[in-house]
Amino acid sequence: MSAQGFPEELYADLVLVNGKIITVDSSDTIAEAVAVRDGRILKAGSTAEIKRLAGRRTRIIDLKGRTVLPGFIDSHEHCIRRGLQADWVNCASPPMTSIDDIVEALRAKAAEKPAGEWIIGNWFDESKLKEGRFPTRYDLDRASTRHPIYLGRAGGHNAVANSLALRLAGIDRNTPQPQGGRIEKDGSGEPTGRLDELAAMNLVRAKIPTTSTEEEVEIMVRNWPQVEEELLSWGLTTIHEAHIKAPEALAYQELLNQGRLRLRVGLMLDGMTPYQGYATSDLSRQGLHTGFGWGDKLRVIGVKLGVDGAMGSRTAALHKPYENEPENRGIVRVTQEELTEETVRCHLAGLRVCIHAIGDRAIDMALDAVEEALRRRPREDHRHRIEHAGYVEEPQLERMRRLGVAVSASIGFCYPIGDSHLDALGEERMRGYYPMRSFREYGIVAGGNSDGFGRNWAITGIYGCVTRRTQREKVLAEEQAISVMDAIRVYTINGAYLEGVEDEKGSLEPGKLADMVVLDRDILTIDPEEIIDTKVLMTIVGGEVVYERR
Ligand SMILES: [Zn+2]
Repeated sequence: MSAQGFPEELYADLVLVNGKIITVDSSDTIAEAVAVRDGRILKAGSTAEIKRLAGRRTRIIDLKGRTVLPGFIDSHEHCIRRGLQADWVNCASPPMTSIDDIVEALRAKAAEKPAGEWIIGNWFDESKLKEGRFPTRYDLDRASTRHPIYLGRAGGHNAVANSLALRLAGIDRNTPQPQGGRIEKDGSGEPTGRLDELAAMNLVRAKIPTTSTEEEVEIMVRNWPQVEEELLSWGLTTIHEAHIKAPEALAYQELLNQGRLRLRVGLMLDGMTPYQGYATSDLSRQGLHTGFGWGDKLRVIGVKLGVDGAMGSRTAALHKPYENEPENRGIVRVTQEELTEETVRCHLAGLRVCIHAIGDRAIDMALDAVEEALRRRPREDHRHRIEHAGYVEEPQLERMRRLGVAVSASIGFCYPIGDSHLDALGEERMRGYYPMRSFREYGIVAGGNSDGFGRNWAITGIYGCVTRRTQREKVLAEEQAISVMDAIRVYTINGAYLEGVEDEKGSLEPGKLADMVVLDRDILTIDPEEIIDTKVLMTIVGGEVVYERR
């Protein structure tokens, strides 16, 4: 049907017609149809207009009224490492409802393994357990005393070890507290098994036999398809991977070389502070600037630095103490001097810093570091990022605006784990809890993330932005809610801005990468309560259908 007599190669490769295309351009244009050629958006418009761009070889998808958005960009996750965890015991809730459930699952794994072999569990969250407390070494001893057991908490900032694991690590009542970490001890001075922050956790982790880099890369590459399939089923077309060490970068490189990377990945390489990473020194020495990479599928978007712990486990650094814990203001893993020095080095080398800072005390440290970097060498549009920004005080918003700092906000936490954050901070401080409306009002660009918690990350995050509702049906500072359209921006164009490529993706405009999702309902008009149930029907990356719901 080359009605207009164009040569076939000038027609679209793919057109989506008869739908509601939310383009997320600057004037919130809504179209009926969209055409794609060579992996990029050719045009959005009416069905009649777009059909004219279809030739004999064009794939035509009839949307039957369904809603299309730009593909979701999640700006802080840890995905490829999930491939290494195939042998781990998943202790997330659900399905775990009690410490007994966890003990039972660990015991079952131990039964499969000879005595002496390590049993690794992960993802427990005491706030979701009947007992409402961390398991202790004695709980884990019920699973096995002949296997060392290491059980990580969701979020990666805390763990519990059984008695054998503690013994192998040489941890007893006389062990001094490590710098930047905490070995919990009971009233009599005996370790309880709980370990807070890497400095303490690593005492045990160092005893777990390591796999070689080659083996790790091989395992991650092998297990990637299952990990990626789930991400695509949630409509994610880009993820930003936070603190990436060499094996993970190598695994991604391998996947790309094999033509097996379907979604787009932005890497935040591990800085030295506090991750003992390589990125700052290596990249700055080589003069490699943020944005270098292997094309539009895989590139380096920054250097990951870190300041504090996590809110749910009460290790995020606050100015004022946690609720019902007058002595606890959280943990800081770096000195201001270390953080500033590394931030300045990255800044001078043309590298973007992505600084993990959740509590207000940590955010001040991050802002101090960025301020010093900008004092040393002013630079417009540096897009240094704060990762998470979980509790922000009003004056800090003004500082963020003035310094031009962007935020990767973990608003995806609100629904699955917001309740534990309310417990930790108290009602009064909720106005500064992932303050999405304030970010917007101050002109601070905020992307969204779930940092591994919950499911269907982008949709759950959009629901959090719009309703501020938690799993226990609490509403966390309704005045910080934003519109559905603004919430969509958080997970599309703002995410693109956070990696410095908002001209390339994040909206459905001519010339941009054709990354799109088709939803099963119109999230702009449904009851906001229903957003959480929204399903992705189809995911398209670079004009290629990479996921279809069956
Ligand atoms: Zn993270």
